Amino acid sequence: MSGRLAVVGLGPGDERYLTPEAAAALADAKALYGYGPYLDRLPARAGQSRHPSDNREEAARAADALRHAAQGESVAVVSGGDPGVFAMAAAICEQIAVGPQAWRALDVMFVPGITAMLAVAARIGAPLGHDFCVLSLSDNLKPWPLIERRLDAAAQAGFAIALYNPVSRARPWQFATALERVRRHLPPTIPVIFGRAVGRPDERIAVTTLENAANEPADMATLVIVGTHETRLIERPGRSPLVYTPRTVPRAMVEAIA
Ligand code: SAH
Repeated sequence: MSGRLAVVGLGPGDERYLTPEAAAALADAKALYGYGPYLDRLPARAGQSRHPSDNREEAARAADALRHAAQGESVAVVSGGDPGVFAMAAAICEQIAVGPQAWRALDVMFVPGITAMLAVAARIGAPLGHDFCVLSLSDNLKPWPLIERRLDAAAQAGFAIALYNPVSRARPWQFATALERVRRHLPPTIPVIFGRAVGRPDERIAVTTLENAANEPADMATLVIVGTHETRLIERPGRSPLVYTPRTVPRAMVEAIA
């Protein structure tokens, strides 16, 4: 029997965000691999084994899951959010690329999930309503100067910017440095959104401005969206403001290109 491997996105929070396709893939699996806290979110099932691993062990986890599937088992590897966004889908592909030929014969499927930036954006309106780009601020797998170059390019090009992995214990200074970097190109009044633990009981959403963003608490469970020149707030009586980026290209940009 040839093995199966499903790379499954759990969405950002509880089971409300789990797609029916992801739920079916999890129910089919005989073995679950993933970061411990993600596995803890899933209900125990009889006959299903669990193989938790640490956050920073993605390559080893991917290889373990592939080895297990190659024994003819139905295996699922889980990621929070979407597995293709700074998560296990690429780690699995990287291992298949360098691994034994038998891994290429496996039935591998990738099951998308709601990624954190979409869940945060939906809480507040449409900050990603026009062109945007996405960066991880983690310099574990790429050099910091490359991140700075990409921040410069994104801010200069007028993209809204979604920032994953803004802060961790091992990376205390990078986020403030990144904010400094985009401030070189963008006005201090530009809206910045902080979404923490979206979809979980301790969810917190905050809207501030680029000049005040460094004072806002951020951690490993926070997703940050830096708006554009066009991003606007709509104040509402008794409700939190809506934040949106309109879909029309600003006139100044049209004139600059013409
Ligand atoms: N695959 C995940 C991202 C993994 S990188 C996804 O698609 O969402 C981990 C980063 O994702 C965190 O540092 C944080 O920036 C963001 N993140 C993940 N879950 C989140 C949540 N519930 N609320 C806010 N940000 C989240």
